[in-house]
Amino acid sequence: MFKLVCGAGNEDAESVKRLVYVYSSAGCKLFDLSARKEILAAAKEGVSISKATGVKYCVSVGIKGDRHISKAVIEYDKCTNCAVCNNICPNDALNFEEKPVINSAKCIGCKKCFYACPSRAIRMDEKDVDISEVLPYMVNNGVEFLELHIMGHDKADLEKKWKIINDCNPKFASICIDRENFGNAECLERIREMISVRDPFTTIVQADGIPMSGADDTFKTTLQAVAMAEIIQNANLPVYIMLSGGTNSKTAILAKQCGINYWGIAIGSWARKIVKEYVNLPDFWENKNAQIMAINKAKNLIITCV
Ligand code: SF4
Ligand code: SF4
Repeated sequence: MFKLVCGAGNEDAESVKRLVYVYSSAGCKLFDLSARKEILAAAKEGVSISKATGVKYCVSVGIKGDRHISKAVIEYDKCTNCAVCNNICPNDALNFEEKPVINSAKCIGCKKCFYACPSRAIRMDEKDVDISEVLPYMVNNGVEFLELHIMGHDKADLEKKWKIINDCNPKFASICIDRENFGNAECLERIREMISVRDPFTTIVQADGIPMSGADDTFKTTLQAVAMAEIIQNANLPVYIMLSGGTNSKTAILAKQCGINYWGIAIGSWARKIVKEYVNLPDFWENKNAQIMAINKAKNLIITCV
């Protein structure tokens, strides 16, 4: 299973519509979306234009502290207009003209600008949403997968949000976990606690190597995703494993060489990057050539993930 990650923080409906159109035309059957009604609607529009069938949706939310629900904010009193952040954003959320400006709807919280700024003029703010109303809406409107990004220290928030997800009774719940803040033992302990309330094999563990790091197509980039998947696999849990975080066209090759029995591969940064030059065109919907080029690139990536 190939999953296109539009981005838990991607609230740009037009970009989601275009990405979903391209990747559903190319054969992708599963799309990861932010928990917003207009984003689900945009994704469905993309599918309706491509006329793809059998498409499924996953909606992602995060606990407090997880970078997937954070947004970059410029502190202009500290900004020196040095332009180091110019062109650094992988999602075109940060534009530099006379000064840097962030389009919050497009910011996916990757932190690249945060780390690059020499003046510490960029902070990351959490954008927590009330999921108790929006997630039941999603399930009632055809979403089969609900995903929780759990890399934060707020256990109470994790328990609260995991209960909301389970109360929605999705076909699959998904746990997205990486080792940025925790070691292997704590990651596994969290997963064991969480799946104890679920039936066997109704949970997907998304083994996130390095979140949002798929900037290039090398084995090195995807190494940590495979390593994280191996840790989950070795724990022998009643879950399906999906690789993510630095995934690209090399992921399946490396995973197979390492004996990983994966259920799927979720690709975000790399999948969006290879079609960006086409989907960002102002005349994208009229430009059939650009659509075909983008769809072919997407097909070539999907094929590698079988
Ligand atoms: S890198 Fe930092 S200081 Fe430089 S322009 Fe960007 S926000 Fe301002
Ligand atoms: S670089 Fe990352 S954190 Fe900064 S604006 Fe772009 S998406 Fe947001």
